[in-house]
Amino acid sequence: MLIADFYVSFYKNQLYIWLHLTFKMKKEQSAILKVGVTGGIGSGKTTVCRVFEKLGIPLFNADLEASKLMNNDVFLIAEIKKAFGKDIYDENNTLRRKNLSAMVFNNHDLLMQLNALVHPAVFRHFAFWHARQANVPYVIKEAAIMFESGADKELDLIIQVSAPESLRIKRVCLRDGVPPESVQLRIHAQISDKEREERSDFILTNDDEQLLLPQILKVHEILRAQ
Ligand code: ATP
Repeated sequence: MLIADFYVSFYKNQLYIWLHLTFKMKKEQSAILKVGVTGGIGSGKTTVCRVFEKLGIPLFNADLEASKLMNNDVFLIAEIKKAFGKDIYDENNTLRRKNLSAMVFNNHDLLMQLNALVHPAVFRHFAFWHARQANVPYVIKEAAIMFESGADKELDLIIQVSAPESLRIKRVCLRDGVPPESVQLRIHAQISDKEREERSDFILTNDDEQLLLPQILKVHEILRAQ
């Protein structure tokens, strides 16, 4: 089967339309499991996903892709400008990220409005990306806000990475050089580990006591056998 999809991007005031043509067996493509990896801030999602990548599993990082799309997807850019004003992009059509963060910080309605624009764009992009994968047992989508964004509904299985709050705070402070209070605020703005665990198929415990690697390998073997 020939799969065609196009991707529109905007670079240096030029409009580019990329056409992707992919030959693929329909059965093979639809059989590729979509697995989500989620967890709270500092839980170790990225660390876990790096191991899956080393095992040869394709990775789609939803946060990273969202950032790229906000600067490349002409339709999304137009919608963001309409909702947040033209000046939210600079003269090179680059998003003024700090200004946007300041606008949505502590403004739940505006944050919801932004998410309603960005999440569907990321979903579409993930679907195109997934359609281009072949000859792998499964793919991974990493997303911090998996359940809140509804991304779990488009996935077959979810892996939750859990870690004690105190350890997560310590890790993020070390990694980002930020005060513990700011990490605590971000943790409490997210849903709890307990809620994520209840809605997930696998739980990886990334504390200082249990080894992480054997847990990842065990899940990998189960997913490979699906
Ligand atoms: P965020 O939500 O902020 O993106 P995350 O869930 O992706 O965070 P990571 O970036 O993977 O978390 O991990 C946070 C920090 O903790 C990183 O500096 C990482 O190297 C470290 N870390 C994670 N797991 C472990 C571990 N098992 N042992 C030692 N350090 C770890």
